[in-house]
Amino acid sequence: MHLALAFNAAAQDMDYSRKVIQTLTSAAFKGRGYVANGDQIASAFIAREFEKSHLIPLNKGSYFQDFQLSVNTFPGKVRVKLNNTKLKTAVDYLIDATSPAVHGKFKVVTVGRADINTPEKFESLIHKAAASFILLDNRDAGKESAEEQRIISAHVRALRSSEKLNFKGLIIFTTEKLTWTTLTYQNSRPVIQVNKPRLDPKTIQTITVDVDSKLVPDYQTRNVAGMIKGYSGSDSTLVITAHYDHLGMLGRKVYFPGANDNASGTTFMLNLLRYYAQYQPKYNTVFIAFSGEEIGLLGSKAFVKNPLIDLKKIKFLVNFDLAGTGEEGIKVVNGTIFRKQFDLLSKLNTQYQLVPKVEIRDEACKSDHCPFYQQGVPSFFIYTMGGIQAYHDVYDKAETLPLTEFEHYFQLMVKFFATF
Ligand SMILES: [Zn+2]
Repeated sequence: MHLALAFNAAAQDMDYSRKVIQTLTSAAFKGRGYVANGDQIASAFIAREFEKSHLIPLNKGSYFQDFQLSVNTFPGKVRVKLNNTKLKTAVDYLIDATSPAVHGKFKVVTVGRADINTPEKFESLIHKAAASFILLDNRDAGKESAEEQRIISAHVRALRSSEKLNFKGLIIFTTEKLTWTTLTYQNSRPVIQVNKPRLDPKTIQTITVDVDSKLVPDYQTRNVAGMIKGYSGSDSTLVITAHYDHLGMLGRKVYFPGANDNASGTTFMLNLLRYYAQYQPKYNTVFIAFSGEEIGLLGSKAFVKNPLIDLKKIKFLVNFDLAGTGEEGIKVVNGTIFRKQFDLLSKLNTQYQLVPKVEIRDEACKSDHCPFYQQGVPSFFIYTMGGIQAYHDVYDKAETLPLTEFEHYFQLMVKFFATF
C-alpha cells in the first residue's frame, strides 16, 4: 500500500475505534448489562458491525447465540443516607452485588475490628444489633496478630452472608477503592461499602436506605458469532474473541461504562474483522463477542457447551479483554503453555518495535479463553498494561481511555495471525 494511504487508513481506524468505544460506553447502552436491555442493545450493535463486513452468521443464519443466566439486578431506586448525609452512588458507596432490596430508616451500631476479635464480643454485638445495621469501621487493621486477623475475617464473612445471624444489614467503612461486580445470586442481607474520607463513622446513628433489587433467575442474553472464510480452503479456524458485556446499572441513573473492560477489546476485535473483510485471511477466522463474562465467563461456557464450530478444528484462539492502554506493554496469559506461539509474538514485536513490552504469564482462568483452553483449545488471553487505574468502577470511561498502543497492538496481532 502507498505510504500516504497507509497513514490514512490508520487514522481512519482510530476514528472508527474512538467512535465505537464512545457508542458502547454511552448511556444508551446501559453499561451493557442485564438492566434496561443493555446487553441486547450492545449485541444488536455488534451484529450490525458484523453484517456491514459481511461476516457469515454461525447460528443457522443468525449471528446470535442465546443462553440464560441468573443475575441479581438493581433496576429501580438506589439511595443511601447516613444520618442526614446523602451519599453519591458508586462514588461514595456501592451496594454489594448480592444485596436484596431494603427500604426504611434503621439504627446503626458502629464497631471497629477490635470489637469483633473474640466470639464473645461478636455474639454480644449480634444481640445488640438485632433490628439495626452494623457499621464496621474496617479502615485500620492496626496491630492485629495473625490469629486475631483470622477470627476477625471469619466474623466479617459471617456478617456479610451468614443466614443464621439476625440483623438488618452491614455497612463497611473502607479506604479501599470501590470496585463493583455482578453476581448470579442474592444473599439474605444488604451490604454497603462506604469510602467517604470526610465522614466520621463514630457519628453515624441512622441509615436511610431505598434500594430496589431483583433476582432474575432466567435472564436471556446472547453471544454474537460470525466468520470470514479463508482462502486456503482448509477447515482449520482461527478464533478471535472479546466479551462485550459489562456490569450494567446500579439504580436508574448510574451505569458502568466499561471502556477498557471491555469496550476496548470488543472494538479491537471489530477492527480485526474489518481488516480481514478487506484482506482475506488464509484460514477461516471466527469472531465471537461474548455476553456474561463479568458474571462468571458464562457466555464462553455456554458457547463451549453448545459450540457453533468444531472446537477440535481451532488452530488458535486469542481473547482480547482490556485493550485500551499499553504504556507498559501487553501481557500474554497462557504464554508459558503455548511457548512457541509466545516466542513468535515476542519476536515479531522486537522486529517491528510495536508495543513497549510483551510479557509472559502462566495460565489464569480470568477471561473467556479459559473454557476453550479447558477443552484443549490452544489459546491466549492478552491484555494491555499501564495507563489508567479505573477498573469495574464509574471512572472506566471513554474520555479517559488512553488507547496509547491501540494501533501498534493491532499491527502486532495482524502479523501474529499471519504466522499461522
Ligand atoms: Zn473484562
